[in-house]
Amino acid sequence: MKDSLGRSINYLRISVTDLCNLRCQYCMPQSGITKKKHEEMLTIEEMLELAGIFVSMGINKIRLTGGEPLLKKGILALTESIALLNGLKDFSLTTNGVLLKDNAEALKKAGLHRVNISLDTLNPEKYKYITRGGDLANVLEGMKQAMRVGLEPVKINVVLIGGFNDNEIADFAELTKEGFEVRFIELMPVGEATQWSLNQFIPNTTVLERIDLKSVKSNDYSSPARYYEIAGAKGRIGLINPMTCKFCQSCNRIRITSDGKLKTCLHSNHEVDLKKALRENGDVKGLIQKTILQKPEAHLLENKEYLEKNMNQIGG
Ligand code: SAM
Ligand code: SF4
Repeated sequence: MKDSLGRSINYLRISVTDLCNLRCQYCMPQSGITKKKHEEMLTIEEMLELAGIFVSMGINKIRLTGGEPLLKKGILALTESIALLNGLKDFSLTTNGVLLKDNAEALKKAGLHRVNISLDTLNPEKYKYITRGGDLANVLEGMKQAMRVGLEPVKINVVLIGGFNDNEIADFAELTKEGFEVRFIELMPVGEATQWSLNQFIPNTTVLERIDLKSVKSNDYSSPARYYEIAGAKGRIGLINPMTCKFCQSCNRIRITSDGKLKTCLHSNHEVDLKKALRENGDVKGLIQKTILQKPEAHLLENKEYLEKNMNQIGG
């Protein structure tokens, strides 16, 4: 699938739920989250049907995300069915890791290729603060288990937060010696946490200033990450710079929210209702094609055009 600017669209991210067992400061408000009605959300069967349609149209990379995807009832069955789709080359899941220890083996058996685990600090007290109550030990066990069962490469997503975790950059880099791939991601202003995120923002160049990194080549040209390594490492370090270095020009991704809306740009408020089209037996493929042709050229964060929804509703 190509958009109107000739960009190849081959990567779909499906947010399977907007619910979460954590409340990260930059993602969700502490309170006031109301559970949407069952009929407002895509069912597991609808998610699978949409995944099948997208794969038949040329999507070959799928990521399940959330909210916290491991809270979703039926996640293993969905994983198993998506893994069987003909033409899928890369199948991954992003999780906060809290429930991973008990699910990693089943996810691997269901056909999932790999996981990204979100972790912003290696200090239990700071973890509790940034997630508003989480227990770091669960995540560390989940990481080990993911590695043990071979959901590899196990990638650790670290959102860089000024004055919070920039003193832990070297400690995170050390994890690459154990075989983890560590990806530092710039904090993005999104939803209710927009102002908080703008206040805490620091650029990813901080990572290059704090530790000695050697640049390494990657043959995945659609990946937004720039890759580096430290001496003696088994895994790479990736820098993802949505704020200081836009990668919109090579953006290959689209998203489905848990209530069935298609989004062609993370930072645009424009959405198209695929759930409605599916339930009314509409021309879902035609609608997808038309929407992809409207994919924006670039995000407009520098013009202060921010996303209204919170990140848990979209999946990152
Ligand atoms: N709950 C899962 C998790 O935390 O991995 C999956 C959903 S979460 C919304 C997906 C990713 O988005 C996480 O890696 C999280 O750190 C990232 N994220 C959320 N809000 C963000 C923000 N404002 N800026 C940058 N990354 C953000
Ligand atoms: Fe939940 Fe993930 Fe958002 Fe944290 S980043 S509140 S774990 S959805």
